[in-house]
Parts: sequence; structure tokens; C-alpha cells
Amino acid sequence: MKIAIIGSGISGLVAARGLHQRHAITVFEADDRIGGHTHTVDVELDGQRYAVDTGFIVYNERTYPNFTRLLARLGVETKPTEMSFGVSCERTGVEWGSRGLASVFAQPRNALRPAFHRMLRDVLRFNREARILLDTPQEKVALGDYLCGSGYSRAFVSHYILPMGAAIWSADPETFLRFPAASFVRFFENHGLLTANPSVCWRVVRGGSARYVEKLVAPFADRIRTGCPVRAVRRQRRCVELTAGGEIQQFDHVILAVHSDQALRLLVDASGLERTLLQKISYQKNDVVLHTDASLMPRSRRAWASWNYRVADEQRARALVTYDMNRLQGIASAQPLLVTLNGTDRIAPERILRRFVTHHPVFDAEAMAAQKRHHEVSGVQRTHFCGAYWGYGFHEDGVKSALAVCRSLGMEV
Ligand SMILES: Cc1cc2nc3c(=O)[nH]c(=O)nc-3n(C[C@H](O)[C@H](O)[C@H](O)COP(=O)(O)OP(=O)(O)OC[C@H]3O[C@@H](n4cnc5c(N)ncnc54)[C@H](O)[C@@H]3O)c2cc1C
Repeated sequence: MKIAIIGSGISGLVAARGLHQRHAITVFEADDRIGGHTHTVDVELDGQRYAVDTGFIVYNERTYPNFTRLLARLGVETKPTEMSFGVSCERTGVEWGSRGLASVFAQPRNALRPAFHRMLRDVLRFNREARILLDTPQEKVALGDYLCGSGYSRAFVSHYILPMGAAIWSADPETFLRFPAASFVRFFENHGLLTANPSVCWRVVRGGSARYVEKLVAPFADRIRTGCPVRAVRRQRRCVELTAGGEIQQFDHVILAVHSDQALRLLVDASGLERTLLQKISYQKNDVVLHTDASLMPRSRRAWASWNYRVADEQRARALVTYDMNRLQGIASAQPLLVTLNGTDRIAPERILRRFVTHHPVFDAEAMAAQKRHHEVSGVQRTHFCGAYWGYGFHEDGVKSALAVCRSLGMEV
């Protein structure tokens, strides 16, 4: 069959890998590079070259089984990394990190702050009590309502749970409180985060995530058309018509491996159900900057972590997070290599190396209800949907959704 795959992120590429041997595939990619959110950039700093990840960085073998298998089959070299977390609050001056007691009490003052002690007690209580939501999953209860109803302290919400959630999902801290509480706790439990000593071992791809993309696409690289955005998808009775590169082409099936909102824009004849479900899972914009300006890191060096969340003085609509790429990728550079989300206005312009805009899915009860109805639209009318947004928004979700599409097209994967 002739199959069009739109999008070359992890989802589109895994679908392509599963299908290319038996079918005539064409992968359309709007960008002039392959990989979507897997984006390693080469930068030169003080005469040295570094490959720095500015999109997908980390995974673990426990909760990414399909992605782990894929890397093993491709023979991709990976290495352990440290997934520590830290918070600095411009409103209260509090700073803490998760790298052991010295980091929790990075500021000796923390030991004297009653609110800080209450936060620590609430962390232990949350780890103990939140599991109850796993037995009685009520997807409709929002995280904010659960925390408020259970009497958790302000410090716990604003210096622990919100920063963690907003950083993990690159989400707006306010709307993040609408995240379904049960799904949040399930994610925390699966990722070993409901414990003071997380046991999950996180890993990175040696030399940058782009190394796995190179191996993944090798067998079908000639079937990928970069710089070729699809403009429209129209379903006919016997084929699907794609408008791309100034022409209309016919395929037997189309796989939309783009974001939900992008998929909906492409479908000129979207059904009522496609419209309803895709609209329920929205995406939000995030600015991503690779830079060397350490002013967004905690003041206390002991609070520095792999992921550093900043509670800004002013109201900000987006999570302000800085990834320490030296720590995450094990890069030894004289100047720090940092990736900051939504802090462009705070970074000294002369320290900016690269700038991008990315989009992340926003999850609430309606979005999660829509995900459960994936089978009602995917595989219908020669049209298949995959993408990380059908799960929690991570690499494993992209892989899983692509494998499901391959199976629905009759492939053993
Ligand atoms: C900064 C950042 C850090 C992240 N870190 C991690 C991490 O450490 N671990 C993790 O598991 N996840 C991480 N993620 C989440 C990441 O989004 C997912 O893991 C996954 O990479 C998303 O894959 P996808 O295939 O769904 O979408 P994308 O990777 O976004 O792929 C969609 C592709 O479709 C293309 N496209 C769009 N419209 C068209 C069109 N009309 N025609 C043709 N092509 C089109 C786009 O250009 C893009 O290449 C991170 C995301 C970001 C942005």
C-alpha cells in the first residue's frame, strides 16, 4: 500500500520504521530537519564543539519499555544521568534541591523556616496518602481540588508539587492544577516519585538524542521529504489526497504523526468526532533557549540540580525551568550549558546560543477522556493518528501510539 506519514518526530519515525519494509511509505516533514522534539544542536564554545539536547533528553528503562527496546535493537549507546530537581522562589527567597540533605538545606535558613518544615512533612504525607487515588481513580477530581481538600500547605503546593508538575509537563503552573489528580499520582507512582529515594534510573543517549534518530531513519532515509509541509488532507472513498510541495498526491492511508491541533487543521473534511476529540487535547507554546547565563540557576550552588524550577516574582503564564545540560548529558564545558523554557526575557542576549519555539500538550480531565476514544477515530476513513499527546506526552507515549497504528495496519511489531 502507499502510506503517507506526516511528521518526523518519534511517533512518525517509529511508524515509518514499522511499515517501510512492506509498504511504500513517504514521510512528510515541514521542518528542514528530521526529529521533531528530538533536537540536538551542535554549538561551539571556547573553541570546543558540543552536541546539546534542546528537546528530548531523558528516558528510563522502567517506564519507557518500548523506547528502550527500540534503542537496544538499533544499537544506540546510552548512559545513566542524574535527574535531580530544584526550586528557587523569588517571592520568598527559598531555594532547595533534591540532591541529598545538603541540597535540601542548601540554605541553612531552611532549617529555621516553619513553612519549609511543613512542606517536607507534606511531601512525606503526599507520598503516603496520595496512593489512595490509585485504588479509587476519579479522573474528574483535579489536582488542585485534591490538594486543597486534603489540607496541603501553600509551601507544599507552590514549592514542591506545582514546580514538579509544571516542570515535567512544561505547563502553565495555574492551569496545571486542573491536571486530573489520579493520573498525576499514577504517573508519580510509575516513575518512582512517590518516595523520598526514587529508584528509577534515568538515561540519556550518548552524544545527544540525534544519534538515535540517525540510526532509526537509516533504512528509509530516502523516503523522508524534509522542508515539505503538508497543507491539506482530504479523504476520498478509494484514497486519501494530500496537498504538499505544490501538488496533490494520492495514498491508500495517511498517518497523522503531528500534534492534535495541527492534525485538525490539516483535515479539510474533519468529521464531527475528529473535531471534538482533537480539540479536547490542546497544545501550548513554550520558548526554548540554549544559553550560558547562570543567573536563572539557584543562587546557592548546593541547590543546583538537573531541572531547576524558578517561581518568578511576577505572575507568569508559563513554567520557568532551566535544564542543566552539563549535569544531564555529562558535558564538561568551562561555561555552563543551560536550556531554559520561557525565560527569554531574563537571559542576557549575548549569552544566548540558540532559540526555538515548541508546543506541549495540555492535559485535563476532558483531554484524558478524549484519549480513551482514540480507537473511534484512528483507523477510520484510511486515517490514523499517533503522537505523544495520546499518552502522557513523552517519548514512550509517541512510540506506543505509533506501534498501535502499525498493528492496526496489520504489521507485527
Ligand atoms: C524542550 C522539550 C524537552 C522534552 N524532554 C523530554 C524528555 O526528556 N523525555 C521525554 O520523554 N519527552 C520529552 N519531551 C516531550 C516530547 O514532546 C515527546 O517525548 C515527543 O518527542 C513528541 O513526539 P511527537 O512525535 O508526538 O511530536 P513531534 O516530535 O513534535 O513531531 C511532530 C512533527 O510533525 C511535524 N509537522 C507538523 N506539522 C506538519 C505538516 N503540516 N507537515 C509535515 N510535518 C509537520 C513537525 O515539524 C514535527 O517534526 C520534551 C519536549 C520538549 C519540547
